Amino acid sequence: MSDCIFCKIIKGDIPSTNVFRDEQVTAFRDIHPAAPTHILIVPNKHIDGVDTLAGEDEPLIGHLFSVAKQLAVQEGIAEKGYRLIINTGEHAGQTVNHVHLHLLGGKPMQLMG
Ligand code: AMP
Repeated sequence: MSDCIFCKIIKGDIPSTNVFRDEQVTAFRDIHPAAPTHILIVPNKHIDGVDTLAGEDEPLIGHLFSVAKQLAVQEGIAEKGYRLIINTGEHAGQTVNHVHLHLLGGKPMQLMG
């Protein structure tokens, strides 16, 4: 999508601090980190959000989690624990309409509520 900021990052049109890339996903550091480690794992193909996922996207979403797990080890946060979040829609605070998995860790986090 031409006006999607994450599509622009994936294409290399906007700078980002990439930590992982393969044929399915790109992972880069969040520009406003909410924890010492805050990485976004993003499908290379544009999908607006969880609501528009198709059945054929199931392996891709599984892959996002596999990459998150691998990056948690790489970042040294796997042992103490980490949080994975996908915000969906207005009440969840989704601000970028390109589905993405947040990987957060490196400090104790508050209980969700
Ligand atoms: P969400 O609120 O779940 O849609 O998450 C969007 C995230 O994208 C936020 O945490 C933003 O800080 C992050 N973000 C927005 N623009 C950029 C960018 N150019 N590079 C890296 N992260 C970004």
